[in-house]
Amino acid sequence: MKKRASIASLIPDSQDIYRKIVFEIADGIVGIDSHGTIRLCNPAAETIFGWQTGELVGKPLELLLPERIHSFHQRLVSDFQSGETDTRRMGQRSATIVGRRRDGSEVNLGITILRTSAAGAPLLVAVIRDISDHVRYQNDLKRLAETDSLTGLLNRRAFRSSVLQSFAGQMEGCRSMAIFDLDDFKGVNDRFGHDAGDEVISRFSDILSSSIRGADIAGRWGGEEFVLFLPNPAGAAAIAIVERIRANFANAGFDWQGCLPVHFTVSAGLATASPTNCDFADMIATSDRALYEAKRGGRDRLVAIRMPAEPLVHDVF
Ligand code: GH3
Ligand code: MG
Ligand code: MG
Repeated sequence: MKKRASIASLIPDSQDIYRKIVFEIADGIVGIDSHGTIRLCNPAAETIFGWQTGELVGKPLELLLPERIHSFHQRLVSDFQSGETDTRRMGQRSATIVGRRRDGSEVNLGITILRTSAAGAPLLVAVIRDISDHVRYQNDLKRLAETDSLTGLLNRRAFRSSVLQSFAGQMEGCRSMAIFDLDDFKGVNDRFGHDAGDEVISRFSDILSSSIRGADIAGRWGGEEFVLFLPNPAGAAAIAIVERIRANFANAGFDWQGCLPVHFTVSAGLATASPTNCDFADMIATSDRALYEAKRGGRDRLVAIRMPAEPLVHDVF
């Protein structure tokens, strides 16, 4: 029977081949000793980080990382040094690891780390790929999938998932959900044209966006309908915020293509609840019911319902 050839005999001058791979490969390779000092760095890594050939050897690894992740990275490396695994791909689940270039700018990296040794001393080797283009492309796709192109607000699906996330982090206080519907909007399109209608939708969206703060979430529910989730304020404060948006829109004059300023109005339905007695669908259904009452009551007004609620507790303006 024929003897199987060993790997060494298949690759006669293996040292030379490894050296060639390390120096020619497009992926960056960086090796650090147990003190975190760079002992090995190929030209591709120097290019990724914006350094000249040979400049990085002998320098601390931290030079290649933004300050905010120094301690996180330190922990990761010491876990890996003491762990059982010899190979681990970093940044796969969390999407990226961030590196720092010589000029201070940041670069998204995919990294595989390997634990090995050189001349008897442990060496941690990272194989690095610049994935900035990929990350940028993914972020663009995410933004496109989540936002409404006319107003830049969250679309219905993204609004719902942002609100559900906010629900998960809030156990007490009061939450409020408002739905706005521009009044007689068919008439706006009929009188001024669809482009003017789009402009009015954008202006309302600007007023809505500029009236909210940090944890509040605004979205375009569809057509000329908008939604607003307020996670914190007490019922009366939520009424004041929604009422201010209604009034600001009613007072804004539109001078479409040289016409005299025209005023438009919006109706709003507001549902307020404690975190323990409502879910997303309940709040939407209740604010929609309040909106219906606002329309029925003559438009350009806000109706608020406190949940669980029968009948209306607030009908004003
Ligand atoms: P109401 O006061 O009862 O809400 O009356 P309305 O005319 O606003 O009622 P309705 O909801 O039936 O009509 C909404 C109109 O909004 C119909 C649709 O043509 C228009 N619309 C929906 N989306 C857009 C958009 O993106 N741009 C423009 N210009 N118009 C839109
Ligand atoms: Mg409508
Ligand atoms: Mg309408």
